[in-house]
This record gives sequence, structure tokens and C-alpha cells, in this order.
Amino acid sequence: MTARNGAAYLDRLRTHSPELWVGAEKITDVAGHKATSGAAAEIARLYDLQSKSDSMLFSPEDGAGKAGVQFLMPRTAEDLELRSVMHKQWADSTLGMMGRSTDFVSAMLVAWNANAEFFGEGADRVRAYYKYVRDNDLFLSHALADPPVDRSKPPSQQPDPFTYLGVKRETPDGIIVSGAKMLATAAPYSDEILVWPFSLRKYGAEEKPYAIAFAIPADAPGVRLICREPFGGGNGFDHPLSSRFDEMDAVVVFDDVLVPWERVFINQDFERVNNIWAINSNAFTGVQTSVRLLAKLQFVAGIAKRATETVKTDQFPQVRDALGEITTYIELTRAAVLAAEAGARPNDDGILFPDVRPLYAVRNSANRWYPRVREILQQILAGGLLYQPADVSAFDSPIAEDIARFYRGPDTNSLDRIAIYKVAADLAVSAFGGRHELYERFYAGDPLFLRINTQFNQYDWTEPLGLIDGLLATSIKDSGLLPGGTGEGAAA
Ligand SMILES: Cc1cc2nc3c(=O)[nH]c(=O)nc-3n(C[C@H](O)[C@H](O)[C@H](O)COP(=O)(O)OP(=O)(O)OC[C@H]3O[C@@H](n4cnc5c(N)ncnc54)[C@H](O)[C@@H]3O)c2cc1C
Repeated sequence: MTARNGAAYLDRLRTHSPELWVGAEKITDVAGHKATSGAAAEIARLYDLQSKSDSMLFSPEDGAGKAGVQFLMPRTAEDLELRSVMHKQWADSTLGMMGRSTDFVSAMLVAWNANAEFFGEGADRVRAYYKYVRDNDLFLSHALADPPVDRSKPPSQQPDPFTYLGVKRETPDGIIVSGAKMLATAAPYSDEILVWPFSLRKYGAEEKPYAIAFAIPADAPGVRLICREPFGGGNGFDHPLSSRFDEMDAVVVFDDVLVPWERVFINQDFERVNNIWAINSNAFTGVQTSVRLLAKLQFVAGIAKRATETVKTDQFPQVRDALGEITTYIELTRAAVLAAEAGARPNDDGILFPDVRPLYAVRNSANRWYPRVREILQQILAGGLLYQPADVSAFDSPIAEDIARFYRGPDTNSLDRIAIYKVAADLAVSAFGGRHELYERFYAGDPLFLRINTQFNQYDWTEPLGLIDGLLATSIKDSGLLPGGTGEGAAA
């Protein structure tokens, strides 16, 4: 067992290429195709970073060699810090642009392993799977949401009974599943895909086949990935972000796929599937998503500052106020991670779970903050976002003098100024930038139900109600009346 480096990651991707479709084209070399090679190279860089950094590796007690800290089961405050520093190193390295670097789903698997008994008969399978992924340092993605065909009806009443993913039959070797899942980000780059339903399953015999959770290799027979339009493939100057960080979203089609029993974690069990949130994996994924958001906000603030300095709009109070709004979100995010770590509590086996409350607060705000941050970029950089020549060839063309003259800043040459604004434009007005806004709005689920569930239904109201009830007790006592409003005398 050894944590992988970039070359090992790319080698495996080449020999285990998933069935990947971009339009009518079947891509057979994810690492080499121009639509997907940029992000594959970035992921390889993350593995190189991990393999060269002692602080990103640890020696598991139940294994030989070194594993990535993303798989560390934290028992101490130092362990938790190691984990979040690891997340930050990866997020900084990708400028917060790769939400589904594998440390997201591996954080989930850490929680599953810590609370494996939740899975009942599947508990030992989950434990064995965690060890398998850790020891082979595999890249995980996940596919939860159902395809948006008819949102008003449950799985069994979709136009075809296997529109939503479900069990067709059981065999001695495992379950045969068919149907689709929408938008598994980074699935084309992953070794394995974790699958379960995001939305609650209705109780009823006909809905049972859809109450499942399992893991499957991305290249398993019958698994097909259908990509959205790629944003990568451009050159690094004109498309500085999308050429490198297009982590790709894909619909996953399961065409009579055999899932071996050892990878079936929940089989047609409403109780477990509907209560999977109780494992509290958000306590771990929430650290990854907050730390990754921190890096992204810092990067956006940095580019906004540079771009406004270049044309001297940073002198204006409304621009400073807008930049200050972004740094406010940065500090709230940073504080939430620290609070989550400070409030961590051990489970019965001594595994420390960060306090999920501040992490939920960030998740339930950042789906509004990030669209606002992108709006700020558009407001303060305005037409400057489109004030670039179409591509780098203009520098070596008959209009080169115009470029040098009109595209400079007072203290900045035209090459530097255009480079800065190309980055800003890739965030603020490109298709890649639009996808990032959508990602931040929805990656954790529907923001409406997310907030209702975590900030209202599951929220511990003891303290807020304690305060109001304390005051009410005093004011009712001051009324001079008996409880229920009977009795003599009113407040003097
Ligand atoms: C960029 C991106 C990346 C993603 N990556 C992943 C991934 O890696 N893995 C993964 O599993 N998923 C991923 N998702 C999917 C994500 O989980 C879903 O987008 C999210 O859960 C919302 O579901 P939906 O898009 O199907 O919207 P829908 O559920 O179709 O909702 C559409 C609208 O209808 C409303 N609505 C829907 N149902 C109801 C109802 N019952 N009552 C009232 N209103 C309702 C919603 O509030 C919303 O406004 C990704 C999504 C995006 C955009």
C-alpha cells in the first residue's frame, strides 16, 4: 500500500478508462483527450503534491506503508488539523476550482467507516471498502440525484420503471441495477463511484428497488458516462481557469450493471437510505467544502483586487466596499472551520467528528454568497470583462500596436493587463464561470430544502427558545395573573 503519485494516477486512468461520451464521440483516453486532459493533469498534480508532502501522509495502524491524510480517522485535535491543512493544500493548488477533488467523497467515506454499524448487514462491507479505497488511494466521485424527468412523481411512477436507478433482480453474485443518476461531478476522472439516493424514498413495496446504496468501479461493464459540453480544451492564456479546472459533470447510465454483494451497502431498505444523513458525514465533507470555499473566495478576492488596481478603480469607495464584502465571507468561512474543529466530539469509538453546525451555516449561506461574489465581479469590473482581444494571436498581428497602446493600464503593460482580465472573465462571464455559480448554488442539494432541514427541522432550538421563554415567564409573572390568565389583579 502506498499513496499514489500523479503518474500512478494517470496510469490507472488509462488502463481503467470509463465508457465516456461527449456528444457522439466515445472518449477512450480521458487523460489524453483535449476536452478532458487539462483537469486530469491537475488531478495528477494533486497526487504529486500528496506523495511529496510528509504532512499529507500517515501510517495506518491496520496497514503497511503510507496512506493519504484524506483517509485519516481523526482521534485528536492534531489529526483534525492535519486533515483540514491537507484540504487547504489541495484547494489552494486548484484555486478552489475543483469542488469534487477526491478529498470530498473520501471525507464522506471516513464518516461511513466511523459509523459503519449504521449499515447493519452492510457494516463490514463498508469497513472493507474504506480500507480498499484507502490502501489503493482511489479517486472517488458520487452520484445521488435522480434524473430530472418527472419531479412530481416517485421513482416507480416515472415513464419507465428504470428511469430512476433501481434493482432489477438479485443474483447469487449481487444485484443487477438499471437506470440513471444525474450529474456526477468528476466521474470521468474517478476510479470508483458511490451511489445512493439524494431524495427521500417513499415507503411502499413498489418503491423498494430504489432504496439502495453501493459502490461501483467507474469502468464497470454497463456503466456509461454522458458528459455535458466540455469547457476545457482552450489555451492557458485565453482560458486560464477552464483549460485547467473543468472537473466535468456527467450523467451516469447503468445498463443492467452487476453490483457484487461486497459492494452493496444498503439493499432495498427505506429506513437506512432515508436516514443516511444520521451518519453525520457532513461533519467531514463540510470541512472540505468550507476549506475549498475559503480558497476560492481568497482567489476571487485576489483577482478582483488585482484587476481594480490595474485600472485604478480600487480608489473608489463603492469598489472598496464590494471587495470588503468578499473578504467578510472569507473570514466567516475561516471562522466556521475553526469553530467546527474546536467543537469536535468523539463518537463511541473515539473518532472525532467536527461540529457540523458552523459548517452547515456556511453551506446554507455560501449558496447565496457565491452568486453574490460573481455579481460583484461583474459590477466592479463591468465592461472591462469583455475588453480583451479574442485571443493571444493578437499580440503578434497587424493590430499589435493597438493592443500595446489601448490594453495597458497606467502602470501595467498590455500583456499583464489582459492576462489579469482573462482570469476575471473566466470567473465572471464564461460558461465555466456560470457553471461554477450553479455548482455553488446546488452542489450540496436543493438550497431550499437544505436550509429548511438543517437550519430549522434538525436545528437545536433549546437556546433560542430558552431566552424567549425566560422573558415570557417574567412578563407573565409581572402581569399579576395566574397561569392561563385567570386570577386577580393586573400588573401595577
Ligand atoms: C454543477 C453541479 C454539480 C453537481 N454535482 C453533483 C455530484 O457530484 N453528485 C451528485 O449526486 N449530484 C450533483 N449535483 C446535483 C445536485 O445534487 C442537484 O442539482 C441538487 O440536488 C438539486 O436537484 P435538481 O438539480 O435535480 O433540482 P430539482 O430537484 O429538479 O429542483 C428544481 C427546482 O424545483 C424545486 N423543487 C423540486 N422538488 C420540489 C418539491 N418536491 N417541492 C417543492 N419544490 C421542489 C426546487 O426547489 C428547485 O428550485 C450537481 C449539480 C450541479 C448543478
